[in-house]
Amino acid sequence: SNQYDVIIIGAGAAGLMCAATAGYRGRKVLVVDHANKPGKKILMSGGGRCNFTNLNSTPANFLSDNPRFCISALKRYTPQNFLDLVERHGIEHEEKAAGQLFCKDSAKDIVTMLLTECDWAGAEIRMNTSVKGIAKETNHYRVDTSAGTLTCESLVIASGGLSIPTMGATGFGYEVARQFGLRVLPTRAGLVPFTLHPELKQQLAPLSGVSCPVDAACNNHHFREPMLVTHRGLSGPSMLQISSFWQPGDALTINLLPDRNIHDDLVSLRKQKPQSTIVHYLAQHLPRRFAQAFNDIYGWSGPLQGYRNSDLEQVSETLGRWTVKPAGTEGYRTAEVTLGGVDTRQLSSKTMAALEHPNLYFIGEVVDVTGHLGGHNFQWAWASGVAAGQAV
Ligand code: FAD
Repeated sequence: SNQYDVIIIGAGAAGLMCAATAGYRGRKVLVVDHANKPGKKILMSGGGRCNFTNLNSTPANFLSDNPRFCISALKRYTPQNFLDLVERHGIEHEEKAAGQLFCKDSAKDIVTMLLTECDWAGAEIRMNTSVKGIAKETNHYRVDTSAGTLTCESLVIASGGLSIPTMGATGFGYEVARQFGLRVLPTRAGLVPFTLHPELKQQLAPLSGVSCPVDAACNNHHFREPMLVTHRGLSGPSMLQISSFWQPGDALTINLLPDRNIHDDLVSLRKQKPQSTIVHYLAQHLPRRFAQAFNDIYGWSGPLQGYRNSDLEQVSETLGRWTVKPAGTEGYRTAEVTLGGVDTRQLSSKTMAALEHPNLYFIGEVVDVTGHLGGHNFQWAWASGVAAGQAV
């Protein structure tokens, strides 16, 4: 029969989690997805190893226009809960940076685990199925798909955001929200590399592939993590993190030597080794290639004894507060997440249902809750999926 208790649109992280949770409660569940296989983003995540959660995840790791919304779901399904599930399935994992848990072998293990859970819970999954339209009828939703008309009591939108369109990302969830009168906050690419204006791009070109730990700041937020110079611009964890807080036209302030008091270092080096040079100092603390190229950009030459106090102040300012005005970002093509989305003020933080449409749910990335880099986005997908799965 084509009648279900619950239809979930999107067989990604949030949708599969929701399906298993609802299935275990005895609900008749169907997951529908237009892609050819489930969990494609999970497969490509974390460099193929899926950073599936972060043990230190707190609501402070999320951006939202309504920051308190995520608290309830995150509290009821914690990183430890997901880790317990991973361990029950015997998946080997490792902690890379503090709290960031990755599969030891492959992200496939997480998809297999979710599909196994869906199977055990009796949830059905139909791939290669596109949704043509949704309508609310007296006491159910009608879902018209490429495989015929389906009906359900509860409809869950888990279709994700706009990032990586080649992986099947669409604005479908936002359209459904608008269809039912929900507000959709402006969306933009997050956790995304920056592009540079031609002059700086050319100057930094010799540094392509070089990474160094920096402290990057923008709009009162800062991240102390590595920066990577690429042939297209600036990437690496610090750049991805700060991109979520950047608006077009903003400058980034980058401390290239966050562990040093640069001015004090230079003053004492000038006193102790007056023949030493800026590039020599830089090479002690930065990758040699970076030190040389950066020095060349600013044309620092000659021994330190030739530098006046004001010159050293200027050098310290340049290194400690290197100001870069990105041309833009690489956009949804490479962004890990979409910022903005369905306004959480119109959803229940307990169940993820629309307040005006109690049987219509929005979970995962389609909602205006976006995590920092480091496993937080999957944690939101799991937690919001479980919250809805317990309610549908
Ligand atoms: P998705 O996982 O995107 O699933 C949405 C599903 O809906 C897809 O299967 C899609 O095919 C389907 N769909 C879309 N439109 C339609 C439609 N019209 N009809 C039918 N089906 C539709 N987060 C982390 O926490 N850790 C990481 O290591 C990490 N790495 C990442 C690496 C990359 C390259 C990218 C792009 C993202 C990464 N993320 C990571 C973010 C994470 O993948 C997302 O936050 C998460 O997948 C969101 O889950 P979701 O279920 O809401 O959406």
